[in-house]
Amino acid sequence: MTVIIKVDPLNPEPWGVRFGARIIAGGGLVAFPTETVYGLGANALDGSAARRVFNAKGRPVDNPLIVHVSSFDGLRSVAEPPPWLLEPLRKFWPGPLTVVLPRKKVVPDEVTAGLDTVAVRMPAHPVALRLIDESRVPIAAPSANTSTKPSPTRAEHVVEDLWGKVDLVLDGGETFFGVESTILKVEDSRVTVIRPGPYTPEELSKLFPKLEVSIYARGVAADRPIAPGMKYKHYAPTKPLFMAADQSVLVQLSRELSMRGVNHVVLCSRETSAYIGAPTIVLGSRGDLYEVAKNLFHALRVFDRRTEPLGLVEPFNESGVGLAVMNRLRKACGGTVVKDADQVLREGGISGSTHPLSGSKARHQEIRA
Ligand code: AMP
Ligand code: MG
Repeated sequence: MTVIIKVDPLNPEPWGVRFGARIIAGGGLVAFPTETVYGLGANALDGSAARRVFNAKGRPVDNPLIVHVSSFDGLRSVAEPPPWLLEPLRKFWPGPLTVVLPRKKVVPDEVTAGLDTVAVRMPAHPVALRLIDESRVPIAAPSANTSTKPSPTRAEHVVEDLWGKVDLVLDGGETFFGVESTILKVEDSRVTVIRPGPYTPEELSKLFPKLEVSIYARGVAADRPIAPGMKYKHYAPTKPLFMAADQSVLVQLSRELSMRGVNHVVLCSRETSAYIGAPTIVLGSRGDLYEVAKNLFHALRVFDRRTEPLGLVEPFNESGVGLAVMNRLRKACGGTVVKDADQVLREGGISGSTHPLSGSKARHQEIRA
């Protein structure tokens, strides 16, 4: 059975948090908001509770979980951070930054997928922090979605995916950033971004001057994955979604598909939507990629519910948080970048008409994301 409790995200009702903490301490599962996406939490020191997380999500058991702590003591209880790391970490925590560090033995193999490292973060969300405090244990929490689906940024997404599989959903409204944390792998003095997120390489390199960014951070296919999660399908809608090579290709492609009578949806910036005749899902402004990040996963779910058989998406600038946006979009598209309509039809398995009068009846319409 799943219970839903609405909580004030900034000042959560203590009884709601206490109820959640009792479930965590008893080996149960609680979905809760963080500043990035909703997490599916379990006691990080309890292997059988962690196994329930994998079962609920349908997550491959070799894809380890992130352990959430509410203090630096919590960090030291599960990992062995090098002393030099603590000062820069204090600048970014609590916040959307995960560090991969040598683990302590108390963390069960289920959580780390048998690795000798553990991923740890301190979330900047009052509900998450109080839930960890009140549970008196670190909380292992991957995103609270079914594996391969877009990550949840609203409680309704959690309910859509995990109804009956999670004991409690703490509904704290929309999450703040909408994309998952930046993950840094720390090996001796080497610091590498292995997943881009809300903290950008530009910001991080101010405190980690020798910061490296993995070539896989862009979200291109990983033939030799450096993090276990990289080899799996992610954020995938059930229908084909194609990334256009650039904005003018996007406008041209959409026009051509409409002329051939192929219904489709275009996920794009507000600026580009003015040039699109087909239905659009506006992700945000091209000038505010934090807005795009925040709307991204909800937009993918809205796209999935539409009847059009395929979608096109606009590529965004990869500087700043744009790197995280493009990483998620590339994965959602399965890495395909398209240049012409024939390629879209071929790869989407759809037959269009070439008759000029067979044009689609679809008129421009903005779908509210
Ligand atoms: P999620 O919790 O769904 O955002 O996914 C957590 C991500 O953290 C996955 O991509 C994992 O592969 C990655 N991760 C967790 N633990 C480790 C670790 N010890 N080493 C490298 N990556 C990790
Ligand atoms: Mg996830």
